[in-house]
Amino acid sequence: MNVDEVLQAAEAEVAAAVNEAGLESVRIRQLGRQGALTKLLKGLGKLPKAQRPAAGTAINAAKTRLQRLIAKRQAALATEQLAAKMAAEAVDVTLPGRRPGAGGLHPVSQALARVEDIFVGAGYDVFSGLEVEDDYHNFEALNIPPAHPARAMHDTFYFADGSLLRTHTSPAQVHVMESQQPPIRVICPGRVYRRDSDLTHTPMFHQIEGLVIDRGISFAHLKGTITDFVRRFFERELRLRFRPSYFPFTEPSAEVDVQCVHCLGHGCRVCGRTGWLEILGCGLVHPRALAMSGIDPETWSGFAFGMGGDRLAMLLHEVNDIRLFFENDLRFLEQFN
Ligand SMILES: [Zn+2]
Repeated sequence: MNVDEVLQAAEAEVAAAVNEAGLESVRIRQLGRQGALTKLLKGLGKLPKAQRPAAGTAINAAKTRLQRLIAKRQAALATEQLAAKMAAEAVDVTLPGRRPGAGGLHPVSQALARVEDIFVGAGYDVFSGLEVEDDYHNFEALNIPPAHPARAMHDTFYFADGSLLRTHTSPAQVHVMESQQPPIRVICPGRVYRRDSDLTHTPMFHQIEGLVIDRGISFAHLKGTITDFVRRFFERELRLRFRPSYFPFTEPSAEVDVQCVHCLGHGCRVCGRTGWLEILGCGLVHPRALAMSGIDPETWSGFAFGMGGDRLAMLLHEVNDIRLFFENDLRFLEQFN
């Protein structure tokens, strides 16, 4: 092959090289110690003396040209590679970001906080009490001795040592009465537990208990307190109905119905066509319950009331299935943020 043919072939190889390794092997094949152009240079000595200068010049020119071509191709390959890398790692800064979702309070927690706010504003203390109780505080001190029929209504979770999960928030009242002397104004919100699970009952639910003890407390104070609370909680004028009832630790006792918040008393599916919704139980604290906790019933009297936090949340938000609150479906819960 003459120098032109070698150069032509080399130029084609340089153009065809797709990466730096391929380009380097072209350089070695043409310009290396055993390379085609190098061999031509070495062959100069075999030429007639007169031809040597011209041939030498041509080969050196070819060599220089090839070196330039290789350098140019190398630069082009580097640019191509960089561009490809940039394209692969490209970040579209115009895409909208993914913001972390903001959490919120559970609707039942919101309802409990709403009740707390109303009573704290009226000068009440908040006391949460204990979720694991003993039999004395959950039953006996509330005038429910062993074998009392009221115990059958509290399907209780017992532990092996005889302690239990509180079935209502009333034992918190007992702790308050044991630890402080009247006047007492306290509300006790919290979780309570019963072995009960069906359409309208869950094994864990929420109650809020209220207790007021002072001199000369009468049923009129209880009625006024409940009436004012309902007005503030529902932010509406709703009629109330006090029905005589029975609880072991209050005497007299009443259950309170509020005018149905859905139909305003006309009768609907939620209120069972009665126009009324039961919201709480209450009464004047039984003198025996006062005495058992060390408060003299001759000097002091008081009232207590208890209501369901889950039920209040249902009524407030017009939710008709209590289980929705415990399924933790975000599509449901997000509506309350
Ligand atoms: Zn109704």
